[in-house]
Amino acid sequence: MKVPVVDMIDCTLCGGCYEMYPELFRLNDAGFIEVAEMECYPTDEVDDAIKHCPQDCIHWEEI
Ligand code: SF4
Repeated sequence: MKVPVVDMIDCTLCGGCYEMYPELFRLNDAGFIEVAEMECYPTDEVDDAIKHCPQDCIHWEEI
């Protein structure tokens, strides 16, 4: 199964991903991006978030 992963080392918390796709990404109380737990992630939406992340720090990971 493929899941989206955010590399927090490069993330600048610009807000792009969680403003575009709040059902997929959120900023938690500790100030880190969290990816929602889903049975199956929507490819188009995740690919779009990947494409628009200015830091190029969202990627798919096979688990
Ligand atoms: S779009 Fe990229 S840099 Fe911006 S908050 Fe999301 S993961 Fe971080």
